[in-house]
Amino acid sequence: MVEIDLDEETDRWQWRCPAGHRSWEPTNFHFWCQQCARTLDEKVEPEFAELRNVRTDETVPRDEVELVRGSDSYESLRGGKA
Ligand SMILES: [Zn+2]
Repeated sequence: MVEIDLDEETDRWQWRCPAGHRSWEPTNFHFWCQQCARTLDEKVEPEFAELRNVRTDETVPRDEVELVRGSDSYESLRGGKA
């Protein structure tokens, strides 16, 4: 499982759509990229299944990504903080 904190820009921004944009959003089963959706090139699919990490060059499918908002809520969910 890969955890991405949507409230942490440095965390979120190392993950990119296949075209290298940072403007992706999670959907239920895929990811969706705002910039890809805006392009006039019909070959570009705004929906994609795998995010790419620009630091490690690894790709992860949607079902292996856990999206969290804020480390506090994450820790409280895991019982990490009393
Ligand atoms: Zn894109």
